[in-house]
Amino acid sequence: MKGIVILGATGSIGVNTLDVISRYQNDYRVVALSAHRQVDRLYQQCLRFKPEYAVMSDAASAEQLKAKLSHDAVDIEVLAGSEALETIASLEQVDIVMAAIVGAAGLKSTLAAARHGKRVLLANKEALVMSGQLFMDEVKKNNAELLPIDSEHNAIFQSMPEHYESLQQAGIAKILLTGSGGPFRQRSLSELSGVTPDQACAHPNWSMGRKISVDSATMMNKGLELIEACWLFDTDPDHIQIVVHPQSIIHSMVQYIDGSVLAQLGQPDMRTPIAHALAWPERIDSGVEMLDFFNMQQLEFEKPDYQRFPCLRLAEEAIRTGGTAPAILNAANEVAVASFLDEELAFTDIPLVIEETLHQRQSRAATTLDDIIADDMAARETAEQIIKSRV
Ligand code: NAD
Ligand code: MG
Repeated sequence: MKGIVILGATGSIGVNTLDVISRYQNDYRVVALSAHRQVDRLYQQCLRFKPEYAVMSDAASAEQLKAKLSHDAVDIEVLAGSEALETIASLEQVDIVMAAIVGAAGLKSTLAAARHGKRVLLANKEALVMSGQLFMDEVKKNNAELLPIDSEHNAIFQSMPEHYESLQQAGIAKILLTGSGGPFRQRSLSELSGVTPDQACAHPNWSMGRKISVDSATMMNKGLELIEACWLFDTDPDHIQIVVHPQSIIHSMVQYIDGSVLAQLGQPDMRTPIAHALAWPERIDSGVEMLDFFNMQQLEFEKPDYQRFPCLRLAEEAIRTGGTAPAILNAANEVAVASFLDEELAFTDIPLVIEETLHQRQSRAATTLDDIIADDMAARETAEQIIKSRV
């Protein structure tokens, strides 16, 4: 029996993870679940999976959950706050941590899982984007296992040799990072300025949380994934080609120097990468429908458009700058996306806010977690001021 913690259990990835686990109740034991403020959802999950711990972001939500659970006489310790997230990610009885909180809020708990040598299933890409080298060093130092959940990175991982050290050693020429192009792939710049949050969140192929949905629409998601791939596979943007593939059937590819291209294909359903990473190196049934090649749309490929989607360029520049630049980029993006979702910022102003924040905040070496978090917070303030001055 493997002990598992799900950070961000009530989100899209969290729910999909519980769906896979529910098929293997004899193999995985849910030790802890966390949620931000969705008391009712976490309550239902607690009743079903009976974890030892449940964590809510604030004391008031934790009290509500406690009160509900006390009626059912289930013995679950309810905790509150971000330190409690680190606690549950570090518990001795835990083998696997699913890092599925969205944004910088998941950084410390994801890092705690790495520091305690867990198998870390990484969905929370923002954590790696922010802390890059520091995170990878902790994984190595503490013998943690880092397995990508992001479908593209999971596909790349699956298309690589088992004992991967570097692109060069593996005979790899390029990583081909695919992306659907999001809901606005075919919109002109002038049409983009008036789009609404609901339009941005209506992704053609994937059903996801609202923040990552907006990131997909601006293509910042692909930019963050470029940075994520640089860290996971120890490479640079010169060796990663973004390929727009609207059908999301190929989840990414690896191009070898002998001319071979290996790809991972599947339904656009996150239960596939989740099941892969849970059971790796074994394979388990994820509940996902098999691909039917006789009943498939044509597969198309396009170059990414850096004019309509400037977030791609901003992310690439940030990883080339290095240090805390990706953390600044990420923080400004989180603020701008939240503001767009609140209908206070136009869609096309998202990249402008990020670019101006990167302009105003100097990046520096990202050697300590404190420096990274300080630059993240300063960038948030700057981005907020920029947004205020625009309206
Ligand atoms: P979501 O919004 O559906 O869920 C987020 C989860 O985190 C929820 O459980 C929420 O309660 C919790 N949470 C939110 N803010 C928090 C805070 N401040 N403190 C503590 N907990 C908080 O998001 P999602 O779509 O499941 O995405 C989660 C992560 O996985 C993101 O980093 C995203 O980029 C990544 N990811 C998601 C998908 C997908 O298909 N949904 C695919 C690839 C990567
Ligand atoms: Mg992805």
